[in-house]
Amino acid sequence: MKIKLTILSAFLLSVSGLQAQTDNGVMRLEEFAYPVKRNNLNIPNVNGFQVLKCDFHMHTVFTDGHVWPNVRVQEAWREGLDAISFTEHMEYNPHKDDVKVDHNRSHDLAVNLAKENNIVLVKGTEVTRQTPPGHFNALFIEDANTLVSDNDPKMDQEAIDRVYQQKAFIFWNHPGWQVNKIPGSYEWIDFVEKQYKDKKLHGIEVVNGLGFHKKALDWALDRNLTIIGNTDIHNLIANSYDIEREGVHRTMTLVMAKDRSAAGIREALDVGRTVAWSSNYLFGKEENVRDLMNACVSVSPAYFEKTNAKTKEVTKYYEVKNNSDLYFELELKTGKGTKKLVLYPESTQILTADAGQSVLSYDVVSTYIRSDKHLTFDINLK
Ligand SMILES: [Zn+2]
Ligand SMILES: [Zn+2]
Repeated sequence: MKIKLTILSAFLLSVSGLQAQTDNGVMRLEEFAYPVKRNNLNIPNVNGFQVLKCDFHMHTVFTDGHVWPNVRVQEAWREGLDAISFTEHMEYNPHKDDVKVDHNRSHDLAVNLAKENNIVLVKGTEVTRQTPPGHFNALFIEDANTLVSDNDPKMDQEAIDRVYQQKAFIFWNHPGWQVNKIPGSYEWIDFVEKQYKDKKLHGIEVVNGLGFHKKALDWALDRNLTIIGNTDIHNLIANSYDIEREGVHRTMTLVMAKDRSAAGIREALDVGRTVAWSSNYLFGKEENVRDLMNACVSVSPAYFEKTNAKTKEVTKYYEVKNNSDLYFELELKTGKGTKKLVLYPESTQILTADAGQSVLSYDVVSTYIRSDKHLTFDINLK
């Protein structure tokens, strides 16, 4: 049997070899082709939850974006994302003379490709009102075409009510985007307060593209709203993010979900189990950022100690390992040890500490648990 298989494979090899040698007058030059591969974004499970990489805010040609919907799926696949949502403007259609207005169309056109590529496609839309009150994204909607509302400012409430009636998850987008143009727009205004009180506001986009909206983080934390980070991408991702560079990723929301599904994402968004990730920074509720960091970072027992010949002081050596693609930058707050630790993605650093201490306390300056506060991370020494 083994001999037969060997003969067969030798025969097949010779046939395919023959085909490769046949010159049909076209020589393929594949060397510069983009390699077809999906990037693995590695973040370990957090307390049993999968950490899903999600971008819940993007546009296509079906509103003011510049790409066809399937391109968004291909980009997400390459970058290792788990879930995306097309959030086309409901009340803004600058391409309407060239592209037929249908607010469901971008989702419908990409739904099969998303399934084939194992990307969760969440149906969404952007409720685009004047600023203030601004723009709101609605995820998990049923039908975007029934949501279109008059852009009469008096209809602001009706626009929100329509997505609310579809049981959407609603978040306030980019609260500070017009801060230099429209006085009073970057404030917790009465309209937003009313949505919050009526439970029609569930989260805030504290990072939009490359912008961290600092006041928005504190508003969300003070009201227990879900922390969101998205690209709001209109052009190709590669036009805004240097994604070919090692370690570069788009702005996204890390969703700690029970499973990798739309329902799993919804449950996690509803209870606020998210951290926004943009550039080298993490933004979120203290417990979420801490749990995420604890899942990624481990410290070894002391593996070496050295005695200073003059002072007789003993220094202990430890390894601090970052088992993730996240970046952590730590500055010593209390204790005697390494002053600054940079935990690059998937790497290990050496930490030294004076013997006789049980803990070193660090500020993780690459995290924000308020606009003016970093996570405090204690390293227990053994
Ligand atoms: Zn917007
Ligand atoms: Zn947008």
